[in-house]
Amino acid sequence: MTNKKTSASRWVRKVIQQQSSYHVPPAGDFIKLDAMENPWPMPEEINQAWRESLAGSHLNRYPDPQASELTQRLRKLLAIPDEAGVMLGNGSDELIQVILMALAAENVSVLSPSPSFVMYEVLARACGLSYAAIPLQRDFTLDMPAMRKAISEHQPAVIFLASPNNPTGAVFQQSEIEEILELAPGLVIVDEAYQPFIREGYEDFMSQLAEYPDLIIMRTLSKVGLAGIRLGLITGHPDWMTQLDKLRLPYNINSLTQATASFAIEHWSVFQQQIDEICVERDRVFNALSSLQGIELWPSDTNFILFRVSDNRAEWIHAQLLAQGILIKCLNRADTALENCLRVTIGRLDENDIFLRVLSELLLS
Ligand SMILES: *Cc1c(COP(=O)(O)O)cnc(C)c1O
Repeated sequence: MTNKKTSASRWVRKVIQQQSSYHVPPAGDFIKLDAMENPWPMPEEINQAWRESLAGSHLNRYPDPQASELTQRLRKLLAIPDEAGVMLGNGSDELIQVILMALAAENVSVLSPSPSFVMYEVLARACGLSYAAIPLQRDFTLDMPAMRKAISEHQPAVIFLASPNNPTGAVFQQSEIEEILELAPGLVIVDEAYQPFIREGYEDFMSQLAEYPDLIIMRTLSKVGLAGIRLGLITGHPDWMTQLDKLRLPYNINSLTQATASFAIEHWSVFQQQIDEICVERDRVFNALSSLQGIELWPSDTNFILFRVSDNRAEWIHAQLLAQGILIKCLNRADTALENCLRVTIGRLDENDIFLRVLSELLLS
């Protein structure tokens, strides 16, 4: 590269220059328990059939721009009401970006509880929107008085509610989400990325879609075994979907993703079995963590567990685990609700056992 200076600092918008890049640690040979992936690859018994299903893809041609066949299958799989519109994204991250681009204007604000999924804030700021983060209570439930006040003050164009929430792992109470839907002056995105891992007794919001014109539900296949194909979706009132669809890039869902997702839905019982096993493992890991001294942890309706270590040791434990080949997520930030918190994704049984053994040794040292 030339030594001459580029003009990037002159032209790239200041909010972008001030942003740090989204850091993803290299996976290497680590036991990877940091990114909420399903630990199992496509099962052997359907792997051959999957490869064959790809053979019909015409890679010289653009994909079906509407992904019609896949959309039909997703409607059935997720029990999306017939009247609702659906839009697919290259991961739900892309859909968050599309929503924010559609709403971006001066003095428009976005609101979400905090802590929550970081991309809401990152993308809101990149789009030049102002972002109101409303702290959750100490136990990571919604602070409803604060939410009511903030909604009334900020009049947000969109509220993001990840339920179950990332990185805390818990669902928000249905009645509280309903109250927010009643109060909100604009869109409410209920991000149900972890819906497949929710315990019995909690209704997701799909069946409520017809009741609330400004409700959009977001789902993804990333957490259930298909992170690599990047497929997310939003569903809601056709008025919203028609507007948002104008910002979707043509052909955003590539042919291999369309074919693979269709194939996976046809063989959903295989994935469902993996999801069920992950839930069993989650409860086992939760119980094991609960029995360790010096750990505070929160019940999870997801495929990960948030926990706090004592004596200011989160960074140290994270580094020590890494040194022993185990990658989890360190969320520690001093003087925040996540002080000394770590997040571990549920892996395979053998991986979880190694994690638990090393962690318990570290806690004793
Ligand atoms: C992982 C995650 C997503 C993003 O999923 P992709 O479809 O992989 O982009 C969205 N929301 C929440 C809360 C998540 O944890």
